[in-house]
Amino acid sequence: MPGATDTILILGGTLQAAAIAERLCNDTPARVITSLAGRTQNPLPVAGETRTGGFGGAAGLATYLRAHNVDLVIDATHPFAQTISGNAAWAAEQTGVRLMRLCRPAWEPDTQDRWLRVASLEAARDAIPSSSRTFLALGRQHIDLFACRDDVHFILRMVDAPADDLPFRSYEVIVGKPSPDVDAETDLLTGCGASHIVCRNSGGTGAFAKILAARQCGLPVIMIDRPAEAGGPSFASVSALLAAVI
Ligand code: NAP
Repeated sequence: MPGATDTILILGGTLQAAAIAERLCNDTPARVITSLAGRTQNPLPVAGETRTGGFGGAAGLATYLRAHNVDLVIDATHPFAQTISGNAAWAAEQTGVRLMRLCRPAWEPDTQDRWLRVASLEAARDAIPSSSRTFLALGRQHIDLFACRDDVHFILRMVDAPADDLPFRSYEVIVGKPSPDVDAETDLLTGCGASHIVCRNSGGTGAFAKILAARQCGLPVIMIDRPAEAGGPSFASVSALLAAVI
């Protein structure tokens, strides 16, 4: 169990990281600092201390660990946040600080699923059939790459309507958040006439309803596989990780 003089750095930006911070603040006397990349303008409140912004690469993170006498780093970043996870593994090794990584299991296809598994965004872009109506279930920062596919109609769901035109020849935007309800996701996919979905294999429950909806509608999913995992002991769930810390 971490003591009052221990400092834990959580690399965050996910709901799971916030859950870990809350539990550690409630159940241990340790100093708990959550680090956010600073991508979101109004991040949800997190228990304990927070710091925001990059560290300046792996060496910068190592410097931070030494300067703040960090005893434990918990990498609870998103499975596709590859750079920060690699940096954490390197910095922990250089400084001798203990590292634990949360890595929620990837989704696995069911026999009814029609997945085409690809290794990258580029491969996903190239795999989209011509003349399809493709639901692009990706963050705004990843979609520009698809602009060259002017033979495809793209359907995008965004929390806020985009301020500027998107870079596609043909597209529509559905304003709203992903729903955890499979029927709602099924209605949405049917309503917009999607013929294909492109998404990343993030794992977890938050975005899984659209995968189940695709299964229900028999829609093909172009599924972008996870990048290679960074080093360090990894835990498949928040509870497994916390059980090893507390
Ligand atoms: P990334 O490509 O792995 O990281 C790019 C750079 O952003 C890192 O080199 C680091 O800068 C900085 N950074 C990333 N996470 C940080 C953190 N927690 N604290 C401080 N600096 C951080 O990461 P990304 O894919 O852009 O994701 C950024 C953040 O958003 C992550 O914290 C992740 O958990 C969260 N997030 C990402 C996704 C996704 O799809 N990738 C989805 C949901 C949430 P320096 O090198 O300067 O330290």
